[in-house]
Order: sequence, then structure tokens, then C-alpha cells
Amino acid sequence: MKLTKEIIDELRVEPGKHANITERSTSATTAKWLDDTEGEQPQKKIAQKDLVSFVKELSRAQEKLWADSSHALLVVLQAMDAAGKDGTIKHVMSGVNPQGCRVESFKQPSLEELNHDFLWRCTRSLPALGGISIFNRSYYEDVLVVRVHPALLDKTHEEPTKDDESKFWRHRFEDINHFEQHLHRNHTRVVKVFLHISRDEQKKRFLKRLEDPDKRWKFSTNDLAERQCWDDYEDAYEEALSATSTPWAPWYVVPADHKYELRALVGGIVVDAIDQMKLKSPLVSADKLESLDKAKKQLLAER
Ligand code: ATP
Ligand code: MG
Repeated sequence: MKLTKEIIDELRVEPGKHANITERSTSATTAKWLDDTEGEQPQKKIAQKDLVSFVKELSRAQEKLWADSSHALLVVLQAMDAAGKDGTIKHVMSGVNPQGCRVESFKQPSLEELNHDFLWRCTRSLPALGGISIFNRSYYEDVLVVRVHPALLDKTHEEPTKDDESKFWRHRFEDINHFEQHLHRNHTRVVKVFLHISRDEQKKRFLKRLEDPDKRWKFSTNDLAERQCWDDYEDAYEEALSATSTPWAPWYVVPADHKYELRALVGGIVVDAIDQMKLKSPLVSADKLESLDKAKKQLLAER
């Protein structure tokens, strides 16, 4: 199963246009994408079934990526807290061979990381050709959380003054766009997904975490403090997504209020990104075929 062009286009932030995240739905898409050929099944059931097909597709696509080794894939996931980044990674990548895939989570930077430029720590986890890297948060934190809390810059050597503040962030967007273009030119495809959750749904999930003894550990009091900055985050996301959705590294805004729908859509987007690489199964030369044939005969001749 593949996502249609219509749904991919709807989720993608058109390069050069505003992301308009506040106008986008957090719970549904307008395009019909669920495979409901089997009649009146509830949406959740259909999306769960679709996720299974995307996972299978992805497993096949990853094998091709690995065998061909001409390209790499970087998937960047960004979201407000409790939007479902961890669950998405767990479910979408469940069929992928761990040998060709790595997941990197970016938390508050260490002193060593702060002593480098803001892209440095992420470059160390980029995928090799044939591989997939998933960034759970990324260098985008440096134009999101840092923008919402500019005091974080005090720990670095960067000091934007009031007058050049907007120039400072514009330069960071430019750096990101150039960096991603460099990756694209060097055969790493970059797919960026914003898991778009509503404020109400986040509240429900926080309450669920607080009420469930098995999930309480996931809640941090800082989550509540960040929730108070919801509008500032929304503004920061709006600007960042609008400034950095490019033809070579587009953003996708995926409705995240229903986890089952979110996971199936992200699975479909990742499969589509690998399909776009137009990979061929590796050709075996005539010489190689001959030596394979010899090897087979030799093995069969063994006692
Ligand atoms: P979870 O879903 O488990 O809460 P998480 O990604 O929120 O996962 P946390 O350990 O709760 O992980 O939070 C990591 C924190 O690190 C986030 O608040 C994020 O904004 C912050 N962070 C990431 N990168 C930077 C950065 N470059 N500068 C400052 N803070 C950062
Ligand atoms: Mg957190």
C-alpha cells in the first residue's frame, strides 16, 4: 500500500509558503487515504491494518536501500511533548533491520556540544549510504526551544542583540537549509515530520500519564512549564517550518491526535521517500554469476 500523491501534497508544507499550522487539523486529513475496501470498519482498525502494510513496505524498501547503498535516509521528528514521537518510532520502524537503522535522541546539549556550532552534534549521527537515521528532536531545537527560551543562548558564545535578533534566527534557518542541501547533494534524502497535536489532546495524555502508575515516570514537571509556553512554541514552529521547508528537505505536518492515524501516515511518508530514490535491485555481473555457480557446484560436491 502507498500513500496517494494527493495526501502527500496535503501534508507537505509547500516550499516558500506558510506552514499555517494553526489552520491545519490535528485529527484528520481531508484527502481519503485509508484503505477501506473491506467495508464499514472503524477508522482505527483500518489505520492499524494500513500501518502493518506500510511496515512491510518499509522493510522491503530498507532492504533495497541497504543493497543498493547509493543513498541514505534521514528522518527528523519534531513535536510538542507527548505528541507520540517514541511510539511512532517504535511502531513504524518495527519491521526494519536494526543493522541499517539508528535512532538518536537529542536532549539538552552537553558542555562539549555547546562548545561547537549548533549543527555539530547532529552531524555525528548522520546515516551512512544504505542506512537510515531517525532523529528524535534535532538541530531544529536550536530554532525552537532556544527561540522560546533565549536565555539558553547564555551558555553558548552566541549573543544576538535586540536589533539583530530576527537576523540571528534568519541566519540559523539559512544554515539549516544549506546544510540540508549539502546532504541532499551527497545522496542523503531528508524527510522532516512535525507531529501536530492539539493542546487539549496533550492535556489528556499528560493526565493519563499522571494517573497510570506504569506511565508516571514519563511525566516531568518541566512538561507543564513548557505547556505554558504553547503559543510561543506554535509561533516558533510556524516560522521554522515555513522558512525551512525546501524542495530538497520538505516538512510534513501530520495530524497526531489519533496515534493510529499518525503512525500509518508517517509510515507512508517514509516509504514514499525511499520510493522517490528510484533504487534498482543490484545487478549481478556475468562473471559474478559464473563464480556463484561454481561455488554452488563446489558446495553440492562436498561429502
Ligand atoms: P519524552 O517524550 O520521553 O519526554 P523528550 O524528547 O521530550 O522525550 P526529554 O528528556 O523529556 O525528552 O526532553 C529533552 C529536552 O531537551 C526537551 O525539552 C528539549 O527541548 C531539550 N533540548 C533538546 N535540544 C536542545 C537544545 N539544543 N538546547 C536546549 N534544549 C534542548
Ligand atoms: Mg519530554
